[in-house]
Amino acid sequence: MRATKLFWNTLRQAPAGVDLPGQQLLLRAGLMRSPAPSVWTLLPLGQQGWERLLACTVQVARDAGAQPVSFPWARPPESESGRGARWRFGEPAGWAAWDTAARELRSYRQLPQLWYAVQPHMSAHANTRAGLLGGALGRRLELFGLYPTLKEAQAGQQALTAAYSGLWNRLELPLVAAAAGPREAAAWLWEHPDGETAFFRCAHCGYAGLPAATEVPPPSQDTAPMLPMEEVETPDCTTIAGLADFLGISPAQTMKVVFYTLEQENQVICAVIRGDLNIDEQKLARAVGNKPFRPSTDSEVRWIGSVPGYGSPIGLTRVQVLADPSVISARNLVAGANKEPFHIRNVNVGRDFFVHQVVDLRAVRAGDPCPGCGEPLAEGYGFALGESMMHTADEAGIPEARYLDQAGQPQPLVMLNMVWDLDRAWGALAEVHRDENGLRWPAPVAPVHVHLVAIKLDVPEVAQTAERLYERLQAAGLCVLYDDRDERPGVAFKDADLLGAPLRLTVSPRALEAGGIEAKWRTGGEPQVVPEDALASLVAPLLS
Ligand SMILES: [Zn+2]
Repeated sequence: MRATKLFWNTLRQAPAGVDLPGQQLLLRAGLMRSPAPSVWTLLPLGQQGWERLLACTVQVARDAGAQPVSFPWARPPESESGRGARWRFGEPAGWAAWDTAARELRSYRQLPQLWYAVQPHMSAHANTRAGLLGGALGRRLELFGLYPTLKEAQAGQQALTAAYSGLWNRLELPLVAAAAGPREAAAWLWEHPDGETAFFRCAHCGYAGLPAATEVPPPSQDTAPMLPMEEVETPDCTTIAGLADFLGISPAQTMKVVFYTLEQENQVICAVIRGDLNIDEQKLARAVGNKPFRPSTDSEVRWIGSVPGYGSPIGLTRVQVLADPSVISARNLVAGANKEPFHIRNVNVGRDFFVHQVVDLRAVRAGDPCPGCGEPLAEGYGFALGESMMHTADEAGIPEARYLDQAGQPQPLVMLNMVWDLDRAWGALAEVHRDENGLRWPAPVAPVHVHLVAIKLDVPEVAQTAERLYERLQAAGLCVLYDDRDERPGVAFKDADLLGAPLRLTVSPRALEAGGIEAKWRTGGEPQVVPEDALASLVAPLLS
């Protein structure tokens, strides 16, 4: 590429509105622009760098045996009756992958399959101030693995995880691998306080996990004797804090009761947890099989025989009771009396009410014990760059996705889904690889490998040498930006630092006189004059 022909404008200052320094450099270096808040246009050099990251991630997929596919980028309305319904754009491609699997994969002999596709994605976490890391739209590499058993899917997940970790290590992009759910589901985060994704980590054992995936070890069993229940009048005590204050006890001696309604079944759920703790609704969602639910209305609470603000599971027959282990291990809690304005002292699970399901519902807080070692957890934030999960055909709601095993028996397919957000990953690389003068790209994802600058193009030897180098370097497989503009050296060098190609080569009368071309690595070190025939070995690392 010749700078005189290239669509490329650098800026002295980043436009207002973006906080992250790497994103400001992407703007200043003329790699991207924002036509509207939270959406990004990659300009030619930017798109070229992005495509090189894409190539790296695709290579990892291909090395793992993945085959390319392209799934529809939108989902049509589901039925005739949905006429007038809109196509849904930016939907995850999982439905199309399942559909293809269900129609085409019939026998164990066709398994496993590994497919990859580049898909657009609408983010639920747009952040106008975070550049590519907060884009409302993104392009993602999605991998779909189809396996005959969960065990094989898990092995596939481990192999892919190791391969991609290798890539991010080579690109020196540090990612936190956070537990994200059952079966080693994972989220990969680039840690930053502005990130949208909270996680918890343990400095002692290295555990990291998303809040809903972090199960706090249950408190030890209180062995105090169960005292007789005792009704107590508690006017205006409809909150845990108010109740604890009024009775002069700590919130941990009360029971928190929250009613939810499963929308499809119209079933009321009574979720109970120790009063000083909160319910994590994502954990609750998992406990109810990801069926849609909402807080119960006051009339629903009255219909099941309770009273808003004074509820408990005692004596209720029309509810499903889900209890956090913190309630099971406690003794003699204060709970609502299901009538106004009364509470009951000395309520004990098993004796005074029954639970249908004991399940971890606890919203994790910093300082809670680590699931791995019990040491206190710390909270962090990050931008989510990747995720991985697996589902059986039945869990995915595609029961027809079955293959015949060796015995001729139909078995559910298992799908592994791994996703990498390439826009975010390239944006994170810009944050990691930079200094006060500009970007410092690792060679595999740099917009160009070599920034070739010619000083005093009116000197014939300079022009001829620069042209010759431009041709030779490209013939060697390098991506070269030839700055053939009539700019002062200071301006050309500033732009080269800003853009951040790993190697800058300068052809000038002074360097030629000294016997060669001036070479300067963007990562540091003094410029040195290198004879032209030594260039091949100098640039070799850029291609490895
Ligand atoms: Zn730990």
